Amino acid sequence: MSAPGTPERPLCVAIIGSGPSGFYAADALLKATGLSVRVDLFDRLPTPYGLVRGGVAPDHQKIKAVTAVYEKLALDPRVRFFGNVKLGADVTVEELRARYDKLIYAVGCESDRHMGIPGEDLKGSFSATEFVGWYNGHPDHQDHPFDLSCEAVAIVGIGNVAIDVARILAQDPEVLAKTDMAAHAVEALRASRIRRIYLLGRRGPAQAAFSPKEIEELSEVPRADFVVRPDELTLDAVSKAGLTDATAKKNYEDLTALAARGAVSKDHKILLRLCVSPVELIGRDGRVTAVKLERNALVPDGRGSVKSTGTGAFETLDGVGQVFRSVGYRGIPVAGIPFDEKAGHIANDAGRVIDAGRPLPGEYVVGWAKRGPSGLIGTNRADSVATVQALLDDFKDGKFPSREIDTALDAVPALLAQKGVKPVSFAQWKKLDALELERGRGVGKIREKFARVPDMLAALGA
Ligand code: NAP
Repeated sequence: MSAPGTPERPLCVAIIGSGPSGFYAADALLKATGLSVRVDLFDRLPTPYGLVRGGVAPDHQKIKAVTAVYEKLALDPRVRFFGNVKLGADVTVEELRARYDKLIYAVGCESDRHMGIPGEDLKGSFSATEFVGWYNGHPDHQDHPFDLSCEAVAIVGIGNVAIDVARILAQDPEVLAKTDMAAHAVEALRASRIRRIYLLGRRGPAQAAFSPKEIEELSEVPRADFVVRPDELTLDAVSKAGLTDATAKKNYEDLTALAARGAVSKDHKILLRLCVSPVELIGRDGRVTAVKLERNALVPDGRGSVKSTGTGAFETLDGVGQVFRSVGYRGIPVAGIPFDEKAGHIANDAGRVIDAGRPLPGEYVVGWAKRGPSGLIGTNRADSVATVQALLDDFKDGKFPSREIDTALDAVPALLAQKGVKPVSFAQWKKLDALELERGRGVGKIREKFARVPDMLAALGA
C-alpha cells in the first residue's frame, strides 16, 4: 500500500471551520512541496467564510473582498466543502478520526465573556456578539429581542467590536441599507430612537484596544458627535511610558485631538468614557434602565502595563435601555476535543492540540480556537501557516504515524448519508451566493442574505 502523502494515497486532512483561519490552513497545505494532499473543509452553516460573512461590519465591504481568495481555494480540485455539518452533532470527532489522517480545528470563538455583575441577566442586556450576528444575518442570532426605542445604550469594552457596534448604531441607516446588512436590522435601525451611545473603557487612553483607523472612522460618522472628556485623558507614569507603542501613541494623540474639538451639537452623541467599570445594571420591571459605574484608578500590573481598580466613587448613567457587553469572545467546548477552560479555547501548544499535557496525535488547531480572540483577519494567515508547518514537521519526522483510515472519496458522503445529514457543497453555496446577490440587486443592495438555515436549504431545493 502507498504511503500517505503520495499521489496514489494523498494525505487526507479535515479542516473543521471555513472562516479565514480554516482557509489559510487549507492554502498552506495545498502549497506544501512534495506532498499530495486532499482537504475537506467542514462548516456547521451551509455558508462558508465564518466571521468575514457573520462578523465583519456591513459597511466594511473592502475587508469582505478577501472571500475571492478563499473561493479560489475552495474551487481547487483537491478541496471539498461540506457545509451544514456540525461537529459534535452531525458527525463526531471519532467518526472524523476514522476517515482522516489529520484534523485541523478552525472553529473560532463562538461565545463571549461575561462581566459578572448584578443585573447582567436583565432584559436589554446582550453581548455584542449577538448584536453583530443579528445585523449580519447570522442564523444563530435572528431572534434576539433588541429594542432600539430607548434613548441611550451602553457598550462595555473599547475594542474594535465595540467600535463596530457604536458605528452601526450611530450611522445613517440609508448608508447601511445599501450594504449586505440584514433587512430586518436596517428596518430596526431606521426606527431607532437611540441618541446617546456610551463607550465604556475600564482603563485609560493608552490602553484602548481599538485601532486608530477604527476610531478615526467612528469620529467621522456624519450625524454623530464623538465626545471625549479631557479630564479622562490624564496619563499616569506607566501609561506615559507605554506610549512608545505606535498604536497606543496614535490612539492617545487622536483622542487628545478629539477632546480638544469638543461637541458640535449633532443629534447623535457617541460618548467615550475612560477609567470606568459598570458595577451593576439597574432595572425596572426586569428591564435595564440605567448603568451604575465605578470610577477606576490605574495601578501597575507588574507586567509593564496597568490594571484598573475601583476607587469607591460611583455615578449612574440614566436612560440606558440596552447594554452590549463587548469584553471579548470565548470558545465553546466540543465533545472529544480538549478545552482550556481558563483560556477559553482548545488546549494546544503552538497549534498542536494537547490532552493532559501531551500532543493528541494528528490533531491541530488554528485561529481564535488556538490563540483566543485576537488579531485582524490577516493575522490568521501567519498563524495558520505556523500550525500547518508544525503538522508537516510532525509528518516528516514520523511523529504521529497515520492511522488505519477509510480513505475512499465517498467515505464521508456515505457516512453523512447514513446519518441523514445533508451537506451543502461549494457549488450549492455558489448558487445561494448568486441568489443573494440577485435579491440584493432587486432592492438596491450589495446582497440580501438568507438569514435562516431552513430558508437557505429551501432556496437550494434541498
Ligand atoms: P478586544 O480587542 O480584546 O477588546 C476587549 C475590550 O474589552 C477591551 O477594551 C478590554 O479592556 C475590555 N474588557 C475586557 N474585560 C472587561 C471587563 N470585565 N470589564 C470591562 N471591560 C472589559 O476584543 P474585541 O473588540 O472583541 O475584538 C476581538 C478581535 O477582533 C480584536 O483583535 C479586534 O481587533 C478584532 N476586530 C477587528 C475589527 C476591525 O479591524 N475592523 C473589527 C472587529 C474585531 P482591557 O484592555 O482593559 O482588558
